[in-house]
Amino acid sequence: MIPDSDNPREACGVFGVFGPGEDVARLTFYGLYALQHRGQESAGIATNDGSGNFTLRTGMGLVSQVFDEEDLAFLRGDIAIGHTRYSTAGGSLACNAQPIVVNDRETGDEIALAHNGNLTNAAVLREDLEAQGVEFQSNADSEIIAHLLARAPGATWEERFHYVMRRCEGAYSLVIMTKDHLFGVRDPLGVRPLCIGRMGNGWVIASESCALEHLGVAMEREVRPGEVIQVDADGLRHFSPVAPAPVHAACTFEYIYFARPDSRLSGRLLYPVREEMGAQLAREHGVDGDIVIGVPDSATPAAIGYARAAGIPYREGFVKNRYVGRTFIQPDQRIREAGVSLKFNVLSDVVRGKRVIVVDDSIVRGTTTPRVIGLLRRAGATEVHMRITAPPIVSPCFFGVDMATKSELIAANKSVEEIGEHIGADSLGYLSLDGLVAAIGQPENELCNACFTGKYPSNVQPHMDQIDLRRQREPALAAAESLNRAGRP
Ligand code: SF4
Repeated sequence: MIPDSDNPREACGVFGVFGPGEDVARLTFYGLYALQHRGQESAGIATNDGSGNFTLRTGMGLVSQVFDEEDLAFLRGDIAIGHTRYSTAGGSLACNAQPIVVNDRETGDEIALAHNGNLTNAAVLREDLEAQGVEFQSNADSEIIAHLLARAPGATWEERFHYVMRRCEGAYSLVIMTKDHLFGVRDPLGVRPLCIGRMGNGWVIASESCALEHLGVAMEREVRPGEVIQVDADGLRHFSPVAPAPVHAACTFEYIYFARPDSRLSGRLLYPVREEMGAQLAREHGVDGDIVIGVPDSATPAAIGYARAAGIPYREGFVKNRYVGRTFIQPDQRIREAGVSLKFNVLSDVVRGKRVIVVDDSIVRGTTTPRVIGLLRRAGATEVHMRITAPPIVSPCFFGVDMATKSELIAANKSVEEIGEHIGADSLGYLSLDGLVAAIGQPENELCNACFTGKYPSNVQPHMDQIDLRRQREPALAAAESLNRAGRP
């Protein structure tokens, strides 16, 4: 048995539905179910009965663990929003589960919000709001956006979103429910995905198109960077409250790994995009081998593409235990370590006596790849050649992905040759940035590639990764640090 691969971890999935006469809670439940891969720590649904009475149910765990029939019967209404969460900012706590509900400062009406992404200026905004007397219920940056909107001046929603979006920096794809509106909002850089679909007389907004298709809802289009979608009894309208960003920065890792292969980004189904990444990798890093295998499930399309381009048979080398959750997505290291051994098993008869080319989508810390390779060797592989469908990750992510700190990133501290030695591969090849961009088929200035280049599409606070992620992962360290500070003369 081997552990799951050392992948980066996605932050959240969001879903919203405006559907008078529909069972909006059940639709949201199924929508979240389809977005489960984006976050497995907590889930929540908020509904609105049409007269501004909100009902909220959140809990820790998988969507299927959080909600039962009684909850869905209790969550009545015409509008609903929902959220699945993996923490990047805020930590793994019940109080950080979303949707977040706040009260409009002017009218007292409730506003519910669910967020995918990370604000890069959260500390400044939070301090400012606290100075104005706002008492936060959580330490998630999403609550900052909710309070900004609740306090935003303006006679129209357009003016109020202008106020919010001028202040927020970083990544935010949002679904928001008010007394009589459903909103979908995407940041001006367009970092995280968001799309809309039409459902009879209603509308659905979701992180990924796969969530629409599960409900039999045809995708209308993606929400554009900087755009606000407003849905109410009069139908759908859209506006762009702030000036367009000079560049867009859609997260490349959504294409490589995060989004489901049956979702569409920029109009393209991701399965063939990933096959093309594998084919490009074969052209850049061809090697003699007997079989090509992928680390399941995320690298399977790329392995098939590699095999086809190289003219080498594709085989399944690992079997995944489908009844173990995506254990790596839980942020607690001890839980990860306890759960990983149940994840995969190797098909020793397939790899024995073979020169094996293994395709995976990333090496983050380099902690699990050596174990993958060791297992293949013990099963009798005569050579193991590692191929990665992304360039080396040299910088952390500040836009909603737990990518490890710079000091933890193996490619920030070792050359490709040194990494190859560290993981014990006969050879190691990473897809080039040009090859990756070509496979995605979008202009480079439409994409964020910061974790490969260190060039961020907006300002990030220096050392933020070390401060935030270390404290989230290591509460004991944070406690010790604060004790040290307290003990100083
Ligand atoms: S830094 Fe990497 S993971 Fe983060 S948004 Fe950019 S491409 Fe995606």
